[in-house]
Amino acid sequence: MTARKRQAWNYTPELPLRSAPFLHWPLRPVAITRHLVKTWRPLTSRVFMLAVAFGLWQWARPSLAEAESLRLGWILEIWVRNIVVLAVVAGGLHLFLQRHRVQGDGLRYDGRPLTRNKSLFLFNDQVKDNMFLSLVPAMLVATAWETLGWWAYANGVAPHWSFSDNPVWFIVLLGLIPIWSVLYFGAGHWLLHRRPVYTHVHSWHHRNMNIGPWSGLSMHPLEHVILYSDILLLLVVPSSPVHMLFAMMHHTVGAPMSHTGYDAVRLPARQRFELGDFHHQLHHRFIECNYGGLESPLDELIGAFHDGTPTGDRIVTERLRRLSEARQPNP
Ligand SMILES: [Zn+2]
Ligand SMILES: [Zn+2]
Repeated sequence: MTARKRQAWNYTPELPLRSAPFLHWPLRPVAITRHLVKTWRPLTSRVFMLAVAFGLWQWARPSLAEAESLRLGWILEIWVRNIVVLAVVAGGLHLFLQRHRVQGDGLRYDGRPLTRNKSLFLFNDQVKDNMFLSLVPAMLVATAWETLGWWAYANGVAPHWSFSDNPVWFIVLLGLIPIWSVLYFGAGHWLLHRRPVYTHVHSWHHRNMNIGPWSGLSMHPLEHVILYSDILLLLVVPSSPVHMLFAMMHHTVGAPMSHTGYDAVRLPARQRFELGDFHHQLHHRFIECNYGGLESPLDELIGAFHDGTPTGDRIVTERLRRLSEARQPNP
């Protein structure tokens, strides 16, 4: 480990960060295959989100007949279920990593504690503020979008294809959803960094300089509306509710997992459960970089890709200087 890494970060994954090989020409089939195997390994947040989506589809969903009409009963059930899923995942990770510090600072990017006694946060406490914004507005908005989705499938507004209608498309679409999710998130996130939207809306999320699981959905309610609106794609392309649930779990489950501040949870027998999103951790520290993810071309296209190295520091410092000059009123 270099002196800079020791100073700037408690832990980093292998640097420089590189965007996914399928974004680079000429295409390298071996590198792409390796990337797919790595991102779809069983002990990863992606496969966990898929498992949760299938679990909800199997055991915790309204029938299409029920969803034909907007009745309070099934809507309340999915609202409570969404709160439970979030509380188990974000709460479990918080207790394990932050409260009881079972792993100490092992594999933790930023060793500083979360913020307490700061009037910036609701209840003067980062964790309580983050929990409130995640459990209350985020789950209300998520439930509203999911309700719209179920109603649209049940009433033929969204084209509903099950596995038996087209098994190949069913599987291909499951594979495309993570890519769609990061493309949509990146574009929306970049727009949220424009003034004055940043000042009034997205700055809420950026109060979290250092992050924990509850920070993932800690944001202005308007941002929740934008975040979950990526399911609109599934209302126009042939899909099944399990695709919608997989897309939604990228936020309800994925946001807490990508904001733990840890690269992975250590498991017995030297196994790891992959959580980390150092790319987004850099965004929380440097703010005007890494709006998308490693499977999105956005940051490289606009010169905002921070790869975690001193070169990345320089690129982003220069970008910040240009942005701040552009924001100065002309003399
Ligand atoms: Zn974030
Ligand atoms: Zn941001």
